[in-house]
Amino acid sequence: MQIILLGVPGAGKGTQAALIKDNYHIPSISTGDMLRAEARKETPLGITVKHIMARGELVSDDLILKIVEKRLHEPDCKEGFLLDGIPRTIPQAEGLQEILRKLHKPDLKVIEIFVPDAEIVKRLLLRKRADDTEETIKYRLAVYRENTRPLVDYYKSSHHFYNVNGLQPIEAVFRDIQHILES
Ligand code: AMP
Repeated sequence: MQIILLGVPGAGKGTQAALIKDNYHIPSISTGDMLRAEARKETPLGITVKHIMARGELVSDDLILKIVEKRLHEPDCKEGFLLDGIPRTIPQAEGLQEILRKLHKPDLKVIEIFVPDAEIVKRLLLRKRADDTEETIKYRLAVYRENTRPLVDYYKSSHHFYNVNGLQPIEAVFRDIQHILES
């Protein structure tokens, strides 16, 4: 079971990732969480990514692919994994495909949780994370539209791609995801 969750920041990827992890016993890998952990350590790399994240910009594709490749080689990923917040760009998607090919695990289910932008701004302002100011939120939505949204077409043409309505209650979104994973 190899899953990618796509969706704008605030669509509910983290919440659904936790439910998938608990129900299907696969690790949930979030580059955002990994980068925040690095930032807390205040290493030179941590300080650099902290500033990038605070601005709502994307960390370089090379760095992300290195982190993800290392993580996917860990033994707990053998039976499958869920990627939350990766890939964010076409080069990341291509790099990921290459990593999975080398691991002999090319098959993916890609699930987009769709929520309109107006609802996202409301949700993220309630979340109160350091990078959740109104200005950064708007910037991150623009970054998503420009860099990440093209992944929908990328995956639609070449993989198992599914879309779920993220405006539903959490349990209903999860039920839709379960149907996809068990189909
Ligand atoms: P997230 O927790 O997924 O919303 O990520 C928070 C921040 O971490 C993003 O705004 C980016 O600055 C950075 N980040 C996380 N994942 C990626 C990724 N795959 N590519 C580039 N930057 C990322």
